[in-house]
Amino acid sequence: MLQIYTGNGKGKTTAALGQALRACGHGKKVIMIQFMKGDIEYGEVKIAQKIPNFEIRQFGLPTFVKKGDPTERDLELARQGFNFAKEVIHSGTFDMVILDELNVAIDFGLIKLKDAHELLDSLPDDMELVITGRYAHPDLVKRADLVSEVLDIKHPYHQGVESREGIEY
Ligand code: ATP
Ligand code: MG
Repeated sequence: MLQIYTGNGKGKTTAALGQALRACGHGKKVIMIQFMKGDIEYGEVKIAQKIPNFEIRQFGLPTFVKKGDPTERDLELARQGFNFAKEVIHSGTFDMVILDELNVAIDFGLIKLKDAHELLDSLPDDMELVITGRYAHPDLVKRADLVSEVLDIKHPYHQGVESREGIEY
């Protein structure tokens, strides 16, 4: 099955992490591949190695990618992440694969939509694939079995509150 968590509100990556935790609880093997993220200080990255059967790999820089003007390094890291995703999906090692922020990587032109379609075409039958990130492409939404859109109604950021340890990262 393909799950997509999208929308402009907070809760997409954390929803995917919740799914990971639940799956791990049943002894399933889960990997989260994070695109456009390279900050090792995320709480989920710090705790991942202590959760049996759970792994997180990051493919990105700590700095923001500029939409419409990604650096060569941004493109290279996204490509590496996507190739790694293809490998793990076809390795048969994992029950659940989470491609965190893949929607944004596609929207920003780091990953081609065509490549994402090809990956979905070749998905093993028993795999749960989870894709997160704003701006989910309508074609991917069409192909998904489960789509949840998180709506931003309120966020402390809009009152000037900086991102908080353990909440935002
Ligand atoms: P989270 O990782 O907390 O589940 P997310 O995956 O839904 O959030 P992203 O779109 O990936 O959110 O945004 C990245 C960062 O911005 C995260 O630190 C997230 O907590 C924060 N964020 C999410 N939504 C909002 C919002 N509406 N306003 C301000 N900051 C937000
Ligand atoms: Mg996110």
